[in-house]
Amino acid sequence: MKILKIDHLGIAVKSIEGGKNFWTDALGLKFEGTETVAEQKVTTAFLPVGESEVELLESTAPDGPIAKYLEKKGEGIQHIAFRVENIEEALAELKAKGIQLIDEKPRKGAGGARIAFLHPRATSGVLVELCER
Ligand code: ZN
Repeated sequence: MKILKIDHLGIAVKSIEGGKNFWTDALGLKFEGTETVAEQKVTTAFLPVGESEVELLESTAPDGPIAKYLEKKGEGIQHIAFRVENIEEALAELKAKGIQLIDEKPRKGAGGARIAFLHPRATSGVLVELCER
């Protein structure tokens, strides 16, 4: 498995509109619009930072994963995403190493990426996303 870089940090916010000002006005990151991923009940906004990005995540439904996260933990870093060269290969390798996966197969993420989550139980409590673009 080849990890290429930290692709992005996923940050759960109650509202992208309300939460983006710190990132855009104070830090000067560029806001490039939002994208809704209906099957994950989430609207995302990616703000590039050098070779990585900040991903703001807003729930589109009260039973979505981000809504549940906000209810339990409040706003904050929800996941860390590593870009891999080949996501199927990475998942197979991790599975063979006994790492608990949330997604056995990649699913569709924002920006046309293919993504898969590892279980926080296997990663010291951090929700880890693998993504291939
Ligand atoms: Zn993400």
